Amino acid sequence: MTTEASPGRALHLDDYAAVVGQPEVDEIRAIAHYLRGKRVQMVNSTAVGGGVAEILARLIPLMEEVGVPTRWEVMTGGSEFFAVTKAFHNALHGAPYDGVKEWFDEFLATNEENQRRIKLDADYVVIHDPQPVAMIRSRGVPRNHWIWRCHIDLSQPNPDVWSFLRPFVERYDASLFSSPEFTQGLSIPQYQFAPTIDPLADKNKELEPEYVQSVFDRFGIDTKRPIVTQISRFDRLKDPVGVIKAYQIVRKYADCQLVLAGGSASDDPEGNAVLLEAREAAGNDPDIHLLNLPPWSYLEINALQRGSTIMVQKSLREGFGLTVTEALWKKKPVIAGAVGGILLQVLHKITGMLVHSVEGCAYQIRYLLANPEMAKRMGENGHEHVKENFLLTANLKRYLILFSILSRSTKG
Ligand code: UDP
Repeated sequence: MTTEASPGRALHLDDYAAVVGQPEVDEIRAIAHYLRGKRVQMVNSTAVGGGVAEILARLIPLMEEVGVPTRWEVMTGGSEFFAVTKAFHNALHGAPYDGVKEWFDEFLATNEENQRRIKLDADYVVIHDPQPVAMIRSRGVPRNHWIWRCHIDLSQPNPDVWSFLRPFVERYDASLFSSPEFTQGLSIPQYQFAPTIDPLADKNKELEPEYVQSVFDRFGIDTKRPIVTQISRFDRLKDPVGVIKAYQIVRKYADCQLVLAGGSASDDPEGNAVLLEAREAAGNDPDIHLLNLPPWSYLEINALQRGSTIMVQKSLREGFGLTVTEALWKKKPVIAGAVGGILLQVLHKITGMLVHSVEGCAYQIRYLLANPEMAKRMGENGHEHVKENFLLTANLKRYLILFSILSRSTKG
């Protein structure tokens, strides 16, 4: 059985009433009514791969449906630009940074090229993450509203990178962070905006058990034995090698298989190198399945999450971790690094287990494999937690309310 009201046709806001209730849907339409005729542009740096693209792909059609036309603009850049922004990303998450001045020049030049290519004149311009942040320079007389949506944890940024980016950020009308813990003292208003998942999307909708089985069969994974899975881009901050080491400890005591499934994003140049590191750590263990998935593998990821015994997200840094949300929604207990937005989702011993090391991760995998009743209870709690806080309709409502608030501000 699937939850999609009518497979094969586009989803509509009313379809979500079955999940979040008709009053919520009515409220969204009522708020949107006050924004009729207003236009929105959302700008990010990749059309596929990673959580931001995932959110925009689901949010924008609903914005359109409620009468707020929204364009999704994807900035373009060469490999040098994305190498620089990846270094910025890591440095903003507190990693060592040895950048040179030319990196800032590259960053500004690419932002400028995009400013020339994309006219940002909608009533509300939402710029996602640091990559396009300097496009604020194309703002003329402030008749429209500019919002910076930061999806990463800025609590301990590298000072060189942050002092370069900060003046751009402070030219915006508002900033949005996934958690109050991630912010910096800024001269502009800051709002909390948790990321969300779409419960009716192929990635999250209910699936026939036969389909789930067929996906595991296709990848040669035995569903009769426990399966521990991490879904993530191959990124060092997601610590795939740490997950393999944890699994190798567990295997000394308990039977299980490990699945590490992920693709890459066009704005992440390090994916192949990290996949190779994971391959080397895995050696020739036939129970470790490293799956390099194409970006359109929504149903496969859904099936892997649904058919796994335990989900892991052993991130060392994490903006939010939509993979955690997706797993909790599917009633899976999640063992995850105690970092970033994971702390909003994995409530220790309630929806999953928080860990700080390879050994801790191994310990909790063993513990939950040995205590399936507890694992089941956590999964159920996780589903409720996501339903309360992290579904797409909540994100839509928050944006609409924010736009209404900004419209009443003096700059409007
Ligand atoms: N994802 C995907 N294919 C992959 C790996 C991840 O579609 O190979 C999806 C995953 O299901 C989730 C998103 O990409 O929806 C990743 O978001 P998250 O916030 O977990 O991490 P990010 O990649 O943005 O750091």
